[in-house]
Amino acid sequence: MSKVRIVVVEDEPAIRRGVVDALRLTGYDVAEAADGVTGLIEASAGGVDLVLLDLLLPKRDGLQVLAELRRTHPDRPVIVLTARGTEEDRVKGLKLGADDYVVKPFSARELLARVEAVLRRTTRKPEAFTHVGVPGGTVDLARREVRWAGGTRCELSETEAAILTYLLQHRERAVAREEILGRVWGIGTAGLETRTVDMHVARLRGKLRDPAGGDPAETILTVRSHGYMAGPGLTLPEGMP
Ligand code: CA
Repeated sequence: MSKVRIVVVEDEPAIRRGVVDALRLTGYDVAEAADGVTGLIEASAGGVDLVLLDLLLPKRDGLQVLAELRRTHPDRPVIVLTARGTEEDRVKGLKLGADDYVVKPFSARELLARVEAVLRRTTRKPEAFTHVGVPGGTVDLARREVRWAGGTRCELSETEAAILTYLLQHRERAVAREEILGRVWGIGTAGLETRTVDMHVARLRGKLRDPAGGDPAETILTVRSHGYMAGPGLTLPEGMP
């Protein structure tokens, strides 16, 4: 098994060294950066399991780094390192999707405990879905096909199947349009608008609607001014929470 890789973005050399040493001693593979620009590059690299991110950084602010990282890597775990008395930054960081924060000055023991807790929470693998039930029918995600009780079928596009799978994998929360755009369409989404997501979701919803009428339970919920969420009309195979 390869080592867990952690990126430390911190401009104060003494703090950075302390954090990096503590992590290496614990057995983590560590990369470090002393400013926001290098930090974003390191944090965006493949194979990174966790990012420790200071907020006050030269060249590029930590909150900007976090926002950009969330856009391109929505699931990459981030722990924010904040100075005491910057409550507002901490709140902003959590709103931007940081997984946790540690207030400076912190002990190595405290930091390592947070690191382990976040890694425990986030290293679960995305679930693979083969089937999901909708009112009056079943979606075969592997074949990208909706089968209705009456025998009719309807095909989902690759994008529609990917949106549905992503919403199911993150069914405990609402997913922002930007996140769907980043995850389903991948990088290089410049020029694509979140309206594109709305159009695909509208089409997908239409395809998940029972042609024979029936149960009106919603399959995909709209979360106003944010995005979408898996709805009560989607029923998971047995054994899945
Ligand atoms: Ca700093």
